[in-house]
Amino acid sequence: MGCVTTTVMDRVLAPGERVEEQLRSTVPPYPSVECHMAVCRSTVAPCGMGEHSITKSEFVDGLRCERLLWLSRYERDLRSPPSMDERRRLRQGNEVEMRARQEFAGGRLIVGVPFDLERARAETHAALAEGVSVLFQPVFEHDGALVVVDVLRRDPEDSKAWQLIEVKASNSLKKPYHLQDAAVQAHVLRACGHRVSSVFVQHLNRDYVHPDRGDLFVLEDVTTAIEDVDVRSSLPRLNRILDEDKAPGVVIGPQCKNPYDCSFKEACWSPYGKRTIFFVPKTIHHTRIKRLREIGVVQLDDIPDEFPLSADERAGVELIMGRERHGDRDAVQALLGKLEYPIHFLDFETIDDALPRLEGTRPYQKVPFQFSCHVLHEDGRLEHFEYLHEETTDPRPPSSAYGTSRTSSWRPMSTTASRARRRSRRCCPSCALS
Ligand code: SF4
Repeated sequence: MGCVTTTVMDRVLAPGERVEEQLRSTVPPYPSVECHMAVCRSTVAPCGMGEHSITKSEFVDGLRCERLLWLSRYERDLRSPPSMDERRRLRQGNEVEMRARQEFAGGRLIVGVPFDLERARAETHAALAEGVSVLFQPVFEHDGALVVVDVLRRDPEDSKAWQLIEVKASNSLKKPYHLQDAAVQAHVLRACGHRVSSVFVQHLNRDYVHPDRGDLFVLEDVTTAIEDVDVRSSLPRLNRILDEDKAPGVVIGPQCKNPYDCSFKEACWSPYGKRTIFFVPKTIHHTRIKRLREIGVVQLDDIPDEFPLSADERAGVELIMGRERHGDRDAVQALLGKLEYPIHFLDFETIDDALPRLEGTRPYQKVPFQFSCHVLHEDGRLEHFEYLHEETTDPRPPSSAYGTSRTSSWRPMSTTASRARRRSRRCCPSCALS
């Protein structure tokens, strides 16, 4: 999580909703300390997170892109509004963090984050002094960084040392981002004089099956792995960027899409137009993208004639530049010629809960809840079958119903199913695929 306030804003607001009213009604207590964060100055009220040093997620953002760091702090209005799916992901992340706390008995939640940092600091200090052995959301600040730790637990084998646990709502460890996140926290704790014996990333277990097959979480020990993150020299560099009056002029690149689309992408990319090396069909290989960027090329017009592109990449460039039309009529006809009537045109939607709630499902397993299937017969007749599950119950029909009702062939499709297996599943009663 970055600025917790702004994350909360993402979580609770729909486009057009009034920020201040929502915050007042949704996230008490209301801010009480002066905030110097540009976004909060201009949109919300003071929250206390603005005058601090760099946060753990600003640190990760800054390593990804210096411009992202600066814009996130000072030009938040340039962000594209989060999509419904992004807002759902944020909500799920919050739910996973809450659920993860249940894994640590007797933990004390530090109150005050994010709006009253003074209180959070005082509560953290008091809990440490009292000898509390598990803390959720304790706050530490040092060396130009402020971190809020998801879970801090006394080492069972060394009561003077701590285990630091970063909770992630993913199914696996995402390098390097999770390591960077954990590394800056360990750095700050150690700089504050605390002994950190081990560092873990706690993420969801992709093999867990609801309700009780396996463990819901995996604890990955990253104590050694985080040593590769150069926190010591990165922190002053990133803080200097935040001291600048304007955003660094970083060139757009792969960092805008990895590990997910940057929320400033529209603002940063629009001046470049569509004729960039990043918009080519049959995507240009990342090694050649890297080389092109090293020689200062972003626009397709600027690619030197002698630059070694593959035939497919060159065709893609020519296509975008409008110099050449590209199509393989024979291949298309051959493909269409293989189809047999009746032909099915299937569309479907799925849900994928981070915390599975349907029996027999795993974290993020995709469960279909809607389909629409048009069936084209050889004589030209077009039939339409559809289903939309409008309740909060399990959208999958009971196995006893398979083969007996209109939605009888409606089965969940796993993302891990092989293509062949997926092809073999039926979508609707008249489906010829079997
Ligand atoms: S869109 Fe790209 S260049 Fe712009 S802030 Fe995001 S990562 Fe940086």
